[in-house]
Amino acid sequence: MDKTACRYHPEQPATWLCRSCERSYGDCCIPLNMDAPDDAPRCPMCSSQLEFLGAANTAQPFWQRLPAFFLYALQPGPLAFAALLAVASIFMPRSIILWVILFSIATKYFHSVIEANSLAVKAAPSLTSAFTGEGFSLFFKQLAVFLIAFAILWLAADFNSEALYWCVNIGLLLVMPASIIRLALDKDLSSALSPEQVGQVITAMGWRYLILCAFLFILWQSPGWVAYMLAHGLPRVILLPVMAFAFAYFGVVMCAMMGYVVFQYQGALGYVIVDEDSQAGFAADEYQRRKALAETEIRLKEGQSDNALETLTAALEKHPDDLKLNERFHQLLFNLNSGERCLRHLQHYMPLAARLNPALGATALLNARRFKADYLPDDPLVCERIAEALAMRHKNREALSLLRNLHQRAPDYPQIPRAYLLAARIFAEGLGQVEQAQKLLQFVRLRYPQSPLLGEVANLEATLAKLSGMPG
Ligand SMILES: [Zn+2]
Ligand SMILES: [Zn+2]
Repeated sequence: MDKTACRYHPEQPATWLCRSCERSYGDCCIPLNMDAPDDAPRCPMCSSQLEFLGAANTAQPFWQRLPAFFLYALQPGPLAFAALLAVASIFMPRSIILWVILFSIATKYFHSVIEANSLAVKAAPSLTSAFTGEGFSLFFKQLAVFLIAFAILWLAADFNSEALYWCVNIGLLLVMPASIIRLALDKDLSSALSPEQVGQVITAMGWRYLILCAFLFILWQSPGWVAYMLAHGLPRVILLPVMAFAFAYFGVVMCAMMGYVVFQYQGALGYVIVDEDSQAGFAADEYQRRKALAETEIRLKEGQSDNALETLTAALEKHPDDLKLNERFHQLLFNLNSGERCLRHLQHYMPLAARLNPALGATALLNARRFKADYLPDDPLVCERIAEALAMRHKNREALSLLRNLHQRAPDYPQIPRAYLLAARIFAEGLGQVEQAQKLLQFVRLRYPQSPLLGEVANLEATLAKLSGMPG
């Protein structure tokens, strides 16, 4: 099964599908509202209700998660289950009824591991869950499946053809995992025996089903290897419980893998399963904001700038001071060459950017100058901050234009010495105009004799004096 990606972010897996306009979206484009988790989101383009794709496109392939399956079986539930089997293997009396009960508990536990993993539940089922609830009959159903398989094998042996026998044998081994998966999911013997139902599991996975079989085969052999390695010199009393423990442990690992496969191929299997980790919604404010940003991006990529402007305007009415929304709005107006509206918006955006992120303010100023060559923010503090950000980008002339004659433009601004000190540095360091810098510093010293920055002024003057004294 091929994975689909977000139509607007090809690197993001698709999690939602719009049937009416046939667009798929990732979580990137469809933020969820934490306060209304049951409201199905709507298509940003055509407003139809979206269909959830579950984790079909986001699930990690099972062969990349092998360590996770081994770790899974080390949780308290599976370990207690393995310990129970180990203890039973030595202490339980030889009573058929007791053993049937034990096997039906074990089968039920294994199947609950498959089911939990198919739903991507991270915590393994507890041991007590194997003793309660329904599902004890699963053992007999599973037993029936095995008996039928043996019967087929036995029939095949009757034909006196070794080739036929092995073909049937391998065929049965290959079909078995799919049948077990079906039984665990549907709890129904007829599905576990139905070629159609079992075939669906195999076709959903395609050739990757063979990888699953290979892994399961290796795991199935593992308890035997454990026994082989320990067999030398170990008494039966120890070997038996160790074998039972290993059987339980590797059994849980195998079931975890089979269950996860259902989760991974849920799309092709016709299930929609939500990952525990995904699906986190956002609080109302953040949700509105993200929704507006995502929708704007989509509208822009579809070439519908007018709709994008509308969406952003509505969002800005609710969140006038959101930097990201304002930035997007500014960029959009700039790209649309909508000079008048852009300059009007800057009256609000420029102070906001100067306060929260002067680098963005610097970009906005450079944009504004394309519309109006002598554009200048009114607020002297805004001018100072943006000038600093511009100087960092080596836009020295633009930076100085913001500071020029600041003492005349804003005579009441208390930070004139600081702003001029900055201007002097830009003159000296950015443009190499030492004389201009010295003139400015002198002006500050004479005009603001009380300024606490005079020490810095003197320092800079001394450095500049050394510079200008140097030959060359
Ligand atoms: Zn749609
Ligand atoms: Zn997206």
